[in-house]
Amino acid sequence: MNNKLYMVIPCYNEEEVLPETSKRLREKINSLIEKGKIDKESRIVFVNDGSKDKTWEIIKTLHEEDPVFSGINLTRNRGHQNALLAGLMTVMDYADMAISMDADLQDDVDAIDEMIDKYLDGIDIVYGVRSSRAKDTFFKKATAEGFYKIMNSMGANTVFNHADYRLMSKRALEGLSQFQEVNLFLRGIVPMIGYPTDVVYYERGERFAGESKYPLGKMLSFAIEGITSLSTKPIRMITFLGFFIFLVSIGILIYSLVRHFMGATIVGWTTLMVSVWGIGGLILLSLGVVGEYIGKIYLETKARPRFIVEQFLDEAAQREKNEND
Ligand code: UDP
Ligand code: MG
Repeated sequence: MNNKLYMVIPCYNEEEVLPETSKRLREKINSLIEKGKIDKESRIVFVNDGSKDKTWEIIKTLHEEDPVFSGINLTRNRGHQNALLAGLMTVMDYADMAISMDADLQDDVDAIDEMIDKYLDGIDIVYGVRSSRAKDTFFKKATAEGFYKIMNSMGANTVFNHADYRLMSKRALEGLSQFQEVNLFLRGIVPMIGYPTDVVYYERGERFAGESKYPLGKMLSFAIEGITSLSTKPIRMITFLGFFIFLVSIGILIYSLVRHFMGATIVGWTTLMVSVWGIGGLILLSLGVVGEYIGKIYLETKARPRFIVEQFLDEAAQREKNEND
């Protein structure tokens, strides 16, 4: 059966939640195995992201007690996105599908059933999308939803109200592994992979213990990270602004000359007006042009895959592949 599931859970100082989280996930995996939806060898993998508390000790104990639990220990704290990637890339060779999820059970565990049903129907990437934010404070809701809107308007296309709770098939993970960028914003990269995708709606609960590791400051820098690591649209905006100011400067030129010939100006005003606007516009425009090239260099350095082939209809190639398998 080709449906070995690996759950990947990044953990940073999560000693308070791990005992409950592991219990709930174990139950979920058991029920899925019983229903015959996933392989008996499925795993729950906790990625310890350089925690300062007993998180890794707890993970080790869980692993000793029950082989369904597995752990990956990073050498130091690298942040949620990197911890998640470390987990996904490590399990890629063993798993047929991987589900990533936070350790604090804010993502509804029961959405997993639906994700797996979609996977079994041939969907490669299933996004968990929050149906409502009833439990979030007004402030968190407003900032978080503003976050998606600003991101999208800046050219960083993400799935609205989807955090990193998602299922990915093996070949989607292999696609992800071709993205070599260091500035990692998974929510923006995963949609670039392609393949059939779908969404599953769930209600996001409250963190049941411990504190959020994403205070406002971190969320803001996460948004800036998302925009600057996905899109060069801010540069394009400078170019447009420069072009606009340059157009305005032509208007000002005409206006200043008219005023000059009408004799309605003092000495030096016309030259000053024309040069201030003309030079300002030219500087912004040139900055934009230089920026456009820097944007190109930036995208080239990411060395993203230019395409991922899903299928090649060729008998000889197929035969060779079957022999290798
Ligand atoms: N996390 C991590 N490394 C970090 C910060 C957070 O691995 O440096 C993990 C954390 O343990 C949790 C997930 O990322 O499993 C999401 O963090 P949190 O629940 O605190 O964020 P929030 O839900 O408040 O946005
Ligand atoms: Mg959380």
